[in-house]
Amino acid sequence: MSAAYGASYACDPAQSRGRRHTEVAAPTRSDFQRDRDRIVHSTAFRRLVYKTQVFLNHEGDLFRTRLTHSLEVAQLARSIARALGLNEDLVEAIALAHDLGHTPFGHAGQDTLNECMAAYGGFEHNLQSLRVVDHLEERYPAFEGLNLTFETREGVLKHCSHKNAALIEAQEPGGVARRFLDRTQPSLEAQLCNLADSIAYNAHDIDDGVRSGLITMSQLQSIELFERYRLEALAEHPDLVQAARARRLLYETIRRMLSEQVYDVIATTRQGIQMAKPQNVEEVRLAGPLVGFSAEMNALSTPLQQFLFSQLYRHPKVMETTVQAQNVVRDLYVAYASRPAEMPTDFAMREDTQRAVADYIAGMTDRFAAREHERLTGQKWLP
Ligand code: MG
Repeated sequence: MSAAYGASYACDPAQSRGRRHTEVAAPTRSDFQRDRDRIVHSTAFRRLVYKTQVFLNHEGDLFRTRLTHSLEVAQLARSIARALGLNEDLVEAIALAHDLGHTPFGHAGQDTLNECMAAYGGFEHNLQSLRVVDHLEERYPAFEGLNLTFETREGVLKHCSHKNAALIEAQEPGGVARRFLDRTQPSLEAQLCNLADSIAYNAHDIDDGVRSGLITMSQLQSIELFERYRLEALAEHPDLVQAARARRLLYETIRRMLSEQVYDVIATTRQGIQMAKPQNVEEVRLAGPLVGFSAEMNALSTPLQQFLFSQLYRHPKVMETTVQAQNVVRDLYVAYASRPAEMPTDFAMREDTQRAVADYIAGMTDRFAAREHERLTGQKWLP
């Protein structure tokens, strides 16, 4: 079979399972490049700059937002993809689109919207990312959404409950949700983006956490994965022990930790591919998960994730904004559901009022949500 470029187990744009609406091929770009470009030009992509990753946007200019997080995921995933011979354009498209469905205010927003929507099918950000690229973007005269290739959409829908998968499968037989029913894998490019997501946030949340003062270097010293590279950095650069060089020590530690994780994924995945010998993407989909950490790196990264969860994501200061964010989303939901005319006409006119409300709120940036909340309730939250 022809592999235009990349390894035989990589996704080849010339062998794509195609778009939902057939389009003429672009003269100079592959279908995956075209997907990536559509994502970068989308409205949902620009909104990511004002959406919370962990810290609300107004809390500081240097914290990650969903946009910078997505760029970091794309960078990591591209580096690994190149080393493994995977399709870099597809990896970039998936990475840049993976968080498009996130609500304002991070997980607090998603959880509250899910509660509000409990009787109407719930709300799930991965599913919402797919809704954004399939339906909610309005840019083309002939179809809804961005009309991305199967392979990009498959990567965007990285998790899906059995119930939701069955619903999607009914609308799109043999489509992107099928694998959750069959328990098969997505492409290597999709598997890679999923792992690059957690590698990226584990590293940048350490940086943002220390910058915010909510976690400290001395706390991190109890985490072996961090401490190992901190000691290594200090052994090579003893002057980093000085208080004035603490920031450089932090970055050098994170850099070494990141590099080691990247090398580990590349080596482990290569081994897995050599053993499974997939000849094409269909064989990748039928093999077990092939992109991953070694058992040792898995064992090292779990305590870091647990640490970030309990000490940063559940920090009283973060929880304080979480409670406020939940109230804002809940109030917005109640207001729009009872008075749909408060929404723009295209949402207000929809017959599926509850889903229209969820779509409208999910698309908001943090500050737009806060402004709308003030308009509808008179309560001011964000500056
Ligand atoms: Mg992410």
